[in-house]
Amino acid sequence: MKEGRITIAGMKIPLVSLNTLIIGSGAAALNAAVRLHERGQRDIALATEEFGGGTSNNAGSDKQTYYKLSLAGDRPDSPLEMARDLFKGGCMHGDIALCEAQGSAEAFFHLVGLGVPFPHDRFGAYVGYKTDHDPQQRATSAGPLTSRLMFERLADVVKTKDIHVFDGHQVIALLTEGGEKEKKVIGAVALDKRKGRRRPAFVVFNAVNIVLGTGGPAGIYQTSVYPESQTGAHGLAFEIGAIGHNLTESQYGLASLKFRWNLSGTYQQVIPRYLSTDRAGRDEREFLNDYFPDMGTLATAIFLKGYQWPFDPRKVAGHGSSLIDLLVHQETVIKGRRVFLDYRRNPAGADPLQRFSFDRLSPEAFAYLENSGALLPTPIERLIKMNPPAIAVFKDHGIDLERENLEIAVCAQHNNGGLKSGIWWESNIKHLFPVGEVNGTHGVRRPGGSALNAGQVGALRAAAFIAGRCAGKPPKAGVFLAAAEPRIRLTMETARKMLGGKTATAAAPAKAADEFRRRMSAHGAQIRDPRAMDAAVSEAWSQWAKVKRNLKVPGPEFLPQAFKILDLCLTHALYLEAIREYIDKGGRSRGSYLVLDPNGEKPSPRIDDRWTFSLAGPRDFVSRKILEISLDERMNVRKEWVDIRPIPPAGAWFETVWNDFRNDRILERPGEDHD
Ligand SMILES: Cc1cc2nc3c(=O)[nH]c(=O)nc-3n(C[C@H](O)[C@H](O)[C@H](O)COP(=O)(O)OP(=O)(O)OC[C@H]3O[C@@H](n4cnc5c(N)ncnc54)[C@H](O)[C@@H]3O)c2cc1C
Repeated sequence: MKEGRITIAGMKIPLVSLNTLIIGSGAAALNAAVRLHERGQRDIALATEEFGGGTSNNAGSDKQTYYKLSLAGDRPDSPLEMARDLFKGGCMHGDIALCEAQGSAEAFFHLVGLGVPFPHDRFGAYVGYKTDHDPQQRATSAGPLTSRLMFERLADVVKTKDIHVFDGHQVIALLTEGGEKEKKVIGAVALDKRKGRRRPAFVVFNAVNIVLGTGGPAGIYQTSVYPESQTGAHGLAFEIGAIGHNLTESQYGLASLKFRWNLSGTYQQVIPRYLSTDRAGRDEREFLNDYFPDMGTLATAIFLKGYQWPFDPRKVAGHGSSLIDLLVHQETVIKGRRVFLDYRRNPAGADPLQRFSFDRLSPEAFAYLENSGALLPTPIERLIKMNPPAIAVFKDHGIDLERENLEIAVCAQHNNGGLKSGIWWESNIKHLFPVGEVNGTHGVRRPGGSALNAGQVGALRAAAFIAGRCAGKPPKAGVFLAAAEPRIRLTMETARKMLGGKTATAAAPAKAADEFRRRMSAHGAQIRDPRAMDAAVSEAWSQWAKVKRNLKVPGPEFLPQAFKILDLCLTHALYLEAIREYIDKGGRSRGSYLVLDPNGEKPSPRIDDRWTFSLAGPRDFVSRKILEISLDERMNVRKEWVDIRPIPPAGAWFETVWNDFRNDRILERPGEDHD
């Protein structure tokens, strides 16, 4: 890595030249750095807005899941079987599914080797359990904070290997060269916003490759269980023409609000009482009672929410577990009330004869509690018995489940879609490698835990390709600047324009964020109303035009926030575009969202007439294709529905593979020679 200085528009700016810049410091970005280092590539560095921020280090759940190939017992499994199960989720490319399955064991044992405490028995069996959309028992967990443990172990390696980290560096632009067809990334502009600096300063990176590990688009939502330190940076990539796909597919589910935490697993299996109040905390009601026929059905649905966590429109009818999400949405968003879980009392039926009792539960729910020794009088006693750390997590954040109610809502948690890449995790922009959640490898559904696997495998594959094919030195400063200077100037000019002026206020970025977050949570989350989409999309674009033109902040210290707003505002507009396009193509309810449809069916006789919908079928146009969306050079939106690539045929012959391997024919971009 070489550090120098350049002068642009009379301003002296640090220039860092290196082979690979890794943006972000979540589990995926860190793994990319570690894997590159393992492959001998030393000319690398990380640039991250906050080391320790992001989802991996700050999110978790009752039992945070890591999905991997089955590695224990006598149940047969194979990478091809695992690929089929990933592919079955719908709208996922088969070759990517195969890569994620093939790389699973390697990625998992790498983490084990680094000391992530995944449990095994005395014979060394990494026993698994069944997670959602998983026909096998491929899931494992290191506890409520699996991804934090991954972050910590990988961060230790980054430290011990002396991999340079530009902490407090928010990347605000990617630099490219070449026309639309042959565009490649050549660097980035960041704002150095480290504490102690008087004002943020520009830093320019001249890099052969960029690994983008900036995580999910958390900052576009108002109601979210992503940690507050995670916002996302998809806009950086959209601005240079990177293609997004499956942007319509995200997961939503029940989570706590005061401290953002996913409420799956035992949080529901102990069957807490659901209640709602008015905004002031008065008029307490057990609102679920009106919609369930009896206590047994209600308590069983709550129990099932434990392992049917994401909202799923297929699980609403027949008083399924997702009816609860819908009713929580109705209570909070439509009626403007507040919803809480109470762990101190059992649900009480509307009719005294319908009080909670274990013998009213389904045999499955009853057996689970019985086997866990948890047939105890109250939800909190059951939780203490089954999962004390689940209570401790809240205590650590000032919430005592033994004394207070827990406020909840249906929250955005994860994006299955995102930027598109090929089998080496390179995007349509050459040398730009999105890894982790920003790379949307999954489609409609995915097995729980497969996001963490995808992040590790993707980073491994990107590193292999970079080390094998793109390992050269960056160009000299003069050559780099000949291509990059106009864009750097534009970024500096954008910053200059945002500073000062009559309308500048410290609150301007937050106000803008509030506007698009509300829009996104109202129209682009778990409930999507076709009649509202045109207005939502046009308001989104007009807000983007407005913030680009008018967003003014009172001083340079607000620039990082202001650039974030530009990024997120653009991101939300493209996400809404994708949702409208999906609906225009006849897209119906699927995955983790419901598309309202007056010609559909009401899933339960007691709920409001507004909740009629129908489910997307396998033969629907939208189920047979994947929507790709991007911006062209003039910032026009491009939409293309592409075929879903099948899983490549199995049964490669050893001699052939060996030959290709020895002759260095493995690391190839489809249809292209090496560079
Ligand atoms: C509550 C919750 C529970 C979950 N449970 C599971 C589970 O059980 N199993 C599972 O597989 N997945 C789960 N997920 C999803 C999974 O945790 C995430 O997908 C994964 O951790 C994302 O990792 P990442 O490395 O891609 O991004 P992150 O860990 O989010 O890291 C992103 C990084 O990018 C940085 N960054 C962002 N923008 C910029 C910028 N402009 N410049 C510089 N740096 C930037 C951030 O500071 C951060 O360091 C869960 C998610 C949540 C929210």
